[in-house]
Amino acid sequence: MSGREAFITLATTNSYCMGATVVARSLRRHGTTRSIVVMVTPNVSEQSRLALQSVFDEVITVDVMDSEDRLNLSLLGRPELGITFTKIHCWTLTQYSKCVFLDADTLVLCNVDELFHRDELSAAPDPGWPDCFNSGVFVFRPSLHTHHRLLEHARQHGSFDGGDQGLLNSFFSGWPVEDISKHLPFIYNLSASSLYSYLPAFQQFGHDAKIVHFLGSVKPWSSSSQREGGHSNMEQFLSLWWREYRSNTESSAAETPQQTQKK
Ligand code: UDP
Ligand code: MN
Repeated sequence: MSGREAFITLATTNSYCMGATVVARSLRRHGTTRSIVVMVTPNVSEQSRLALQSVFDEVITVDVMDSEDRLNLSLLGRPELGITFTKIHCWTLTQYSKCVFLDADTLVLCNVDELFHRDELSAAPDPGWPDCFNSGVFVFRPSLHTHHRLLEHARQHGSFDGGDQGLLNSFFSGWPVEDISKHLPFIYNLSASSLYSYLPAFQQFGHDAKIVHFLGSVKPWSSSSQREGGHSNMEQFLSLWWREYRSNTESSAAETPQQTQKK
């Protein structure tokens, strides 16, 4: 089973590779039995790629530019959608029957393998507009047919927010009303913005968080590890992120028990 289901993330730059490393390490720490896969673009350095190979089961180079597909080529004239196309490339990973996509700016806090019991497309509400799902964490079924339909949808309608989230929400437009089992609890994609928009709820439910998402322009790796002044709850997640990052890069002591859990 572990070979047929996988967590997937994406890194198109060396700094997002830092995030991807933490995604993989935190999944391993909590004993996932599924494969852990990263998609990278060819510009990612050899050094970053080697670092990823030490922690991921599979590092897949995704070169959207080499497609012979006419549809792809017409879409490639829209550079603003570049990352989007790279992300939806995850639907082509048909060696897996079901996958969970995690943004590279997420941190896994406990075992979340139960996500594989969900069907496509399952995701948590976006904190900014809860009738849209946030595309930082979602369950999907790889399928070349779906991939093609997504590209066709992008060609016809573009993306209302210029990114993958707008495209995916208009493609999976039934999500807000059709099937409550496809609504992941918010604790599977907890973002800092919930602290500012509904602090009492964060205080009540935040300790159950399963996946933290550092969404927005400031990423854990884009500022000093000792950043001060943020909300103390988020600071805790931030320092956890750095601890996970350092456990990978500066010490191998934590690796042995995790490696034994790898299947
Ligand atoms: N991403 C990437 N390179 C980029 C921007 C984004 O690899 O230059 C990937 C990465 O996996 C990232 C995801 O696309 O987590 C979505 O982007 P981001 O997390 O920055 O968006 P946000 O969640 O802040 O809206
Ligand atoms: Mn993100």
